[in-house]
Amino acid sequence: MANQEPTDPSHALFDLFVTAESCRDVQKHFSDLCEQLQVDPKDFRVFYSKLKERLNYWKAKDLWVKIDKRASHKDYQQRKACAENKCLVLGAGPCGLRAAVELALLGAQVLVVEKRASFSRNNVLHLWPYTVYDIRELGAKKLYGRFCTGTLEHISIRQLQLILLKVALVLGVEVLTAVEFQGLEEPSGNKGWTAKLHPNPHPTLVFEFDVFISAGGGSFIPDGFKHKELRARLAIGITANFTNRRTAAEAQVKEIAGVARIYKQNFFHDLLTQTGIDLENIVYYKDDTHYFVMTANKKSLLEKGVIKQDYSDAEQLLARENVDHDALLRYAYEAANFSTERQLPDLEFATNPAGRPDVAMFDFTCMHRAEHASLVRERRGKKLLMGLVGDSLVEPFWPLGTGIARGFFAAFDTAWMVRSWGLGVPYLKVLAERESVYQLLSQTGAGNTKNDYTSYSIRPSTRYRHVNLSAIQVHQVQHLYHVNDIP
Ligand code: FAD
Repeated sequence: MANQEPTDPSHALFDLFVTAESCRDVQKHFSDLCEQLQVDPKDFRVFYSKLKERLNYWKAKDLWVKIDKRASHKDYQQRKACAENKCLVLGAGPCGLRAAVELALLGAQVLVVEKRASFSRNNVLHLWPYTVYDIRELGAKKLYGRFCTGTLEHISIRQLQLILLKVALVLGVEVLTAVEFQGLEEPSGNKGWTAKLHPNPHPTLVFEFDVFISAGGGSFIPDGFKHKELRARLAIGITANFTNRRTAAEAQVKEIAGVARIYKQNFFHDLLTQTGIDLENIVYYKDDTHYFVMTANKKSLLEKGVIKQDYSDAEQLLARENVDHDALLRYAYEAANFSTERQLPDLEFATNPAGRPDVAMFDFTCMHRAEHASLVRERRGKKLLMGLVGDSLVEPFWPLGTGIARGFFAAFDTAWMVRSWGLGVPYLKVLAERESVYQLLSQTGAGNTKNDYTSYSIRPSTRYRHVNLSAIQVHQVQHLYHVNDIP
């Protein structure tokens, strides 16, 4: 019966795993579940099928149905396309985890390393319809009942990470948290490509890999990759999270999908005259927290004492010592209160991992974009395929909400590249195809990808409208093959 407590200990452990709300608890309950069922995640080739076989629980079956459906796609070749490949994924952000799931579905051995010990980002992401479908089809509803239940489709970064972490673990991906990637170690002796990790989680057992996926976020650029900087007119963003107590009164307050000044001039005029706050736009999502994100006018930040002194250099302008944090809290509080017509009772800031009010001010004037998405390095006859995904590849412009949509596209494109690599396609062709697809990514918007997202797969032609895998020729990617063999 649905409401009865499970009597089988493995069922109870599965329930704890599914409902776990922190990265640590997910990992702990998963490990307890594996122990109880005597299945070893290190046995990644058969792990998922053994788990399924031994956990005969109706709640788990709902999840298996979803995962089996995805895994049965012909692109994965019954999880054998990359059965001989070992992949290191740097970063357990949404895009690193999404890529890890695809690599596991291709049959590869996957290790994810994440330097943070917890998933703590309250900020809420607006999701495009295809991403909602994609995450739902991975079993999101079974792993997080509140997934996209509101009027607007969004999810906090931490909840998205938790869902993807659970799926990744079930598929046999190993995820190490509180472990920092500090660089690649070149092959030596019989040893292949390895990583310098801190702290070293397996001092005796070294993970050698032939694929390295970097999903370290916007500020992380691995060796060998170059980024272009795109500068726009100064734009100052503010995010603020308030505690959501989920009361009836809070439920009544309407979300704000995104109000820009040009569409609602009276609102912004009243805000300015009544509070002195001058905004370009504001968004409000009711999620785990009451989340607000807004673009603020520099002049009003100076007048309200949030920014102490005016500088033309954005870094100097928003430097910690030039910001009055209490004034920033007041500014964010007033903007949130006004825009919800003071209907949110007892507004109280949610806290960040440091225990402080979760409010941040940042400049999104400067964004980075990688010049290329892939490369191959070779040392001592050992080749390493490298790829970038997520913000590490293209930093999004947050008001367009393109981060996860393009980030997941890049994760699929990268998985397609690894599939070709695993199937023995010549490496220069693998690179040329990856770069051909990468050319399309920045032009990808909600309206110009294929409409039928139920058919989306890692195969680029299922998603992009006009894809030409030979747009870039093999001779144009020679420079992405870095060989420097020591005799
Ligand atoms: P990240 O989420 O940055 O994850 C990178 C991970 O790598 C981190 O966990 C980090 O700890 C880890 N890491 C870094 N270096 C190392 C290392 N050396 N060793 C180990 N681990 C490492 N996107 C949307 O789609 N919709 C929105 O509405 C939206 N709104 C946004 C609003 C704001 C204010 C901002 C700033 C962004 C918004 N975005 C939005 C963008 C979205 O947050 C990002 O696109 C998304 O988080 C990128 O995911 P990622 O996995 O690429 O990188």
